[in-house]
Amino acid sequence: MKNSRTIIAEMPKVELHLHLEGAFTFEYLLSLVEKYGGDPNIKNIQDLKNLFIFRDFPHFIKTWYWKNQFFREPLDFEESTYQSLKKLAEQNVVYAEVFYSPWDFEKNGLRTEEITEATISGIRRAESDFNIKTGLIADIVRNYGAERSIKRMEEVLPYLNNGIIGLGLGGNEIDFPAKDFKEVYRKAKSLGFRLTAHAGEAAGPKSVREAVDELKVERIGHGVRSIEDPVLIDMLRTKQIPLEVCITSNICTKIYSSFEDHPFKKLFDEGLFLTVNSDDPPMFGSDITGEFQIIHEKFGFSLSLIKELTINSVNASFLDRENKEKYKSFIDDYWDKLN
Ligand SMILES: [Zn+2]
Repeated sequence: MKNSRTIIAEMPKVELHLHLEGAFTFEYLLSLVEKYGGDPNIKNIQDLKNLFIFRDFPHFIKTWYWKNQFFREPLDFEESTYQSLKKLAEQNVVYAEVFYSPWDFEKNGLRTEEITEATISGIRRAESDFNIKTGLIADIVRNYGAERSIKRMEEVLPYLNNGIIGLGLGGNEIDFPAKDFKEVYRKAKSLGFRLTAHAGEAAGPKSVREAVDELKVERIGHGVRSIEDPVLIDMLRTKQIPLEVCITSNICTKIYSSFEDHPFKKLFDEGLFLTVNSDDPPMFGSDITGEFQIIHEKFGFSLSLIKELTINSVNASFLDRENKEKYKSFIDDYWDKLN
């Protein structure tokens, strides 16, 4: 019998909450740093890894912007996307829905459409080289306000169902409440975008309720702070709205001070629809395999529950019914062969 570490590493997985801008590989980022003239403090991969060891949120933002300056040409996005998906495929992620936010790079002189096309081309290349399929979710950032978010949604509209599958909402959850984005979500839904939004991460249950009631989201990014409100827990259980949980991310950003304090197990025991995800793997020193290991080793979830969680991700995905069945039977096959 294989040991649990091997099984968790090789089992087929689905990733639903990962930001391409936060999922670069160190090797590729180092090549970009060198391509654009280098940085005296970054001489090798280890220097780069040290820079990305999470200290606190301001440092996280600072390193986020530092690395963004090295994405200057469409090709950089194409290759970075390809390398990120390769990394996922190596962990046996067979399907991924990933966020991208091209507007962060306007100051580098790049247009949304060139980044979008480069990203989709990286996805297609990864799909032809590895066993991974990927849907793209355009993550509009709360901080720029509702009006600009409509413009942004319209900018990516030509790629809907041709690379892009959905719309997400990230950024400052406390100062820019979900209700301000009601109109862009209403419009996006009518155009055929699938809907998710970060909520219940930095802000509490009210933010999650707003995302559900006002934005009519199909999933919640994070949503872990729902645990603070039993009435909201009842609603999420009844409606079976999936939560895209990212445990290590929550610890790094200090939503919870330790794994022991993380409510994953409580949310699961409450009967909520949970999925396991990695958010910004290199920024948090984690990856999707590691997240499942935490659930198994620190939270005591059996391997059969781990399998159940991967099936949850298929069910929570924006795939059509036929593809969901296909991935579920692929996952079943893996587990059946183990027994
Ligand atoms: Zn996120």
